[in-house]
Amino acid sequence: MDYDELKNLQERVAYFTKKYMPLFQYTHNSDQTPLFDDKNNTCRFCGKSSPKVTFKKKAHAISELIGNKEFVSRNECDVCNEQFGNSFEDNLSKYLGITRNLSQIHSKKGVPSYKSESGKSRVDFTNKGIVIQDIEGSNFIEMKENGMLIHSVRQSYSPLSVYKSFVKMALSVLPYEYMFYFWSTVKWLGEKSDATSYYDMKDYEWIIERFVPGPRPLSLTLHGFIRNNDVIEVPFYQFVLEFGNYIYQIAVPCKFKDYNLGKSKNKITIYPMPHELEFIKFQFGKIETNFKVMNNPNKIKGEKLDVFMGFENCEIYDGNGKKIDDILKEEGINLKERLKYKPINLNEI
Ligand SMILES: [Zn+2]
Repeated sequence: MDYDELKNLQERVAYFTKKYMPLFQYTHNSDQTPLFDDKNNTCRFCGKSSPKVTFKKKAHAISELIGNKEFVSRNECDVCNEQFGNSFEDNLSKYLGITRNLSQIHSKKGVPSYKSESGKSRVDFTNKGIVIQDIEGSNFIEMKENGMLIHSVRQSYSPLSVYKSFVKMALSVLPYEYMFYFWSTVKWLGEKSDATSYYDMKDYEWIIERFVPGPRPLSLTLHGFIRNNDVIEVPFYQFVLEFGNYIYQIAVPCKFKDYNLGKSKNKITIYPMPHELEFIKFQFGKIETNFKVMNNPNKIKGEKLDVFMGFENCEIYDGNGKKIDDILKEEGINLKERLKYKPINLNEI
């Protein structure tokens, strides 16, 4: 697989409109909340039905880590839910790291706090906005003219497991009738990450990661695109997930439909989905795009993650021997309370 970020917006629009059909677009907290359901009580992953398997647990089609509460899958059995849930979630959480905090993603336990490795610096989203505690010489925060650069470190994570967590979400929201084409993808998802893969999905194992500046500009939204016909040499299914400050896009492995991919003389390329913010002059700046190879099954340790945070207003408190708890009290900051905050309404820009 290959990619090309240099395509301009018009070319990308043409690529998507000519080669793909939009299959779905769901936005969290909108009027129509989809339930990913089939009527015959059969697990979309293992194909087993009740009473062989049970469907007691609430299966989130999209990870709760990124703020999902509504997108629930009714046809994921408890065994599959357990099997896929733990490992993928854990790796995804470590990969997203501080970005969940800075994008104010409300997960099951509220907005997570971020603590640096040494435990001496931390970021909390509070009733007074974002509060960052840091000590001199820690190199955690680098102040810039109109913002600050936060130097964080990701906890150890496996890139392949992170990629799989996106694939799992893409399959959870795919209309059921398409699941038939993805049986080998499901088998591959269930493989132990340290084992040699029987299915070889290497060509697919990367993500397009886009950073959108601004205070939580993106509502949790999912897009699915299916190739218009089987003659076109592009991946069969592309999935895009946007939330907070990030847009993630993957080509979902589908050996059944993509058996021809990569065999022709022309390299297969995919491009970032044109986003509505690219069509306007967005006040917070441009979208940054990264292409990341995610095929490493091993844990990556100590990966740096720098995030720039612009601000209009920043107050710096010097400790001056005071206890942090006292400073927080004086300023009326409650680390456990959240600022009431409305995301940007794109229609008002
Ligand atoms: Zn199952």
